[in-house]
Amino acid sequence: MSGNFLEIKNMKKTFGELEVIKDISLSVKEGEVVSVIGPSGSGKSTLLRCATMLEKMDGGELSYLGERAAYEENGKCVYVSKADRKRIHKYFGLVFQNFNLFPHYSVLKNIIDAPMTVDGISRKEAEERAEKLLAQLGLSDKRDAYPYQLSGGQQQRVSIARALALQPKILFFDEPTSALDPELTGEVLKVIRQLAQEHMTMIIVTHEMQFARELSDRIIFMEQGVICQEGTPEELFNSPNARVREFIGRVM
Ligand code: ADP
Ligand code: MG
Repeated sequence: MSGNFLEIKNMKKTFGELEVIKDISLSVKEGEVVSVIGPSGSGKSTLLRCATMLEKMDGGELSYLGERAAYEENGKCVYVSKADRKRIHKYFGLVFQNFNLFPHYSVLKNIIDAPMTVDGISRKEAEERAEKLLAQLGLSDKRDAYPYQLSGGQQQRVSIARALALQPKILFFDEPTSALDPELTGEVLKVIRQLAQEHMTMIIVTHEMQFARELSDRIIFMEQGVICQEGTPEELFNSPNARVREFIGRVM
């Protein structure tokens, strides 16, 4: 094994004529927190969607914990079998901007559903796992509530609990707080901070510059489908290139 939890090599993705991901390589080690920043439309969500196999790449390689999910052969991007992809899928979880909870399921059912159907664990075990997570995320009293009865911040914490219930090795976040009112952002960032302290490996697309700066081991600035600058928070914030400086100045 290469030692990398995630390895992306030369990822390319086009939609019709539009080259959205031009050539992105990215390795993430166990326990690393990597933030992805950059202007709207730069390809951040597409990068995450390709990395989590929600979209197929047109070129490049993808592997998790040394296991190949996609590779290049004769200039084409080839994916491993469905069974292999299904197994690799268990390595990661994804938290979306808009929570994506099932509206007609209670909080508990939202969390136990996938572990029972995907992992095949018993209801009892799934409920125990869910209750532990709810307690950890300060949501024990919301167990039987429905998503519409929760604030956006609580809904997002439930969707983090739902992702964690599958016990992923890597968690991806796509702008986890950008659908939230500013006063609800803090409670979600707190949960992510807590996960970082527990050494969860995470890739976080965010517009929260201060948060990215304090939490990340590495920050990636994306623009027009390429990585325009990459480094530690100190490197990026203390010696930004012209594009990064302009972006940070605009959003902070
Ligand atoms: P970001 O998350 O950085 O805002 P996206 O990855 O969502 O950027 O989008 C990058 C570009 O790709 C945008 O121009 C967007 O319109 C385009 N795009 C994203 N998804 C699709 C799609 N399914 N079909 C066509 N174009 C898309
Ligand atoms: Mg996006």
